[in-house]
Amino acid sequence: MNTTEVKKIWDEVKEELKNVIPASTFEPWIAPLEAISFEDNIFTLISGESFGIEYIKKTQYKTILDTFKTHFGREILVNINFNQEYADKIKKERQKQEKKLQKEQKNLEEHKKSIENLSYVKSMNINLRYRFDNFVEDTNNKIAKAAAEKVAENPTALYNPLYIQGGSGLGKTHLMQAIGHYVTMKGKLKVQCIKTEDFINDYVNSTAFVPNKNTTSAMNKFRNKYRNVDILLIDDIQFIENKKKCIDELFNTFDTLYNANKQIVLTSDKLPKDLPEIPKRLRTRFEQGLVVEIKPPEFDTRVKILENFAKEKGVENIPKDVFEYIAKYYKDNVRELEGAFTKVNAFSDIEETPITLEYARKVLKCEEFSQKPDIEKVIETVADFYEISTADIKSTSKMQNISNARSIACYIAREKLQNSYESIANVLNKRHQTVMYASDKIKKAIKTDAKLKNDITKISKILSI
Ligand code: ADP
Ligand code: MG
Repeated sequence: MNTTEVKKIWDEVKEELKNVIPASTFEPWIAPLEAISFEDNIFTLISGESFGIEYIKKTQYKTILDTFKTHFGREILVNINFNQEYADKIKKERQKQEKKLQKEQKNLEEHKKSIENLSYVKSMNINLRYRFDNFVEDTNNKIAKAAAEKVAENPTALYNPLYIQGGSGLGKTHLMQAIGHYVTMKGKLKVQCIKTEDFINDYVNSTAFVPNKNTTSAMNKFRNKYRNVDILLIDDIQFIENKKKCIDELFNTFDTLYNANKQIVLTSDKLPKDLPEIPKRLRTRFEQGLVVEIKPPEFDTRVKILENFAKEKGVENIPKDVFEYIAKYYKDNVRELEGAFTKVNAFSDIEETPITLEYARKVLKCEEFSQKPDIEKVIETVADFYEISTADIKSTSKMQNISNARSIACYIAREKLQNSYESIANVLNKRHQTVMYASDKIKKAIKTDAKLKNDITKISKILSI
């Protein structure tokens, strides 16, 4: 009988044995037996484990003989022999299995570690959404991104501090968080990532008088939090302006970390030199490392950001012209750019309408909103606001309220809406130098005159600019 037939018979008998022998014996001892021949009424099985053979012979031999007898309808002799080759094969397989198990175990441990790492990362106020790999690079943010990456790879005060400046919604927080994310995922450096408001609140709470409070211990706790770190990331540092005590505390925190070669990263919507309320000693520290600026992204980058954003949200099959349409109108703030897409997407979900260019147009109405108010409209709005007439503004009257309103109109038309001095002068029937002088005067005055600043904010709101 050939080996294939022999094996087939053994498989069938084995199935029958499986029903009569307890699994605890069958699996380790019977299942691995191999059939090699059936000659002269002797069925020969081999095993790689001599102990197993002894055990089977002692406990299951009769059952095996009976099962063969039933299968063949006659008495059969069954030999179970030890086979060295088979023993080696089993040994090898066992080792292979062990290695596989060890690998699985290692993977499991690594997985566990990365989960622990994730919660570790989260405990430091790090938002896992902000990473280098999903920050779209272009010429306007390239240097900031490269500097952030360098600091993340080498957070031992290569550029200390790294100061990231840029307008609202241009990715400052994203880059700062990406540094924290990268560093904590890579090693166990201690990162503290905070908003400036939180630093201020923390400071105020630590120093506030509460009966029976141990102020020294509260202060120690505060200092430990911010000074006992490898990297301190502080977002929107401009908010510390005018907070004198906090500035002192920040100054000392800064020096402690700096002298210990610990990395500091700051973000702000203004350059250090444009923060006049921050004392020079701190401002110069802000400037002593590397100051990088982020400018609004270019059109192609905006499209790419939207494409990535949609992908991250799991929204698929959006026609490219939808992204291009949004990117065309949302130029200065990536948060608003993403917000516009989110709006279209939400409407499309609610109204169960697929997103097309027409649909995006209908929801966002960008064309309508993008129409900048013209100079006439500015004059009209300023006149209404101060309850005078447009003719007053266009007149040569030197009365203070009228002259003031005229200057404000010049400032808004020039600084907020980028009209040329000539075109404003034409509408007002004035000289171009007069318009320039008036606009500059307001520009300077709003730095100190809160009411004036407030008025201009209100007028701008009315004009939707
Ligand atoms: P900022 O702190 O400068 O006000 P954020 O970092 O909060 O701005 O960015 C606002 C939003 O825009 C975030 O969702 C951020 O992920 C996204 N964003 C900004 N710039 C980019 C970019 N270059 N690539 C991808 N996403 C960006
Ligand atoms: Mg921010």
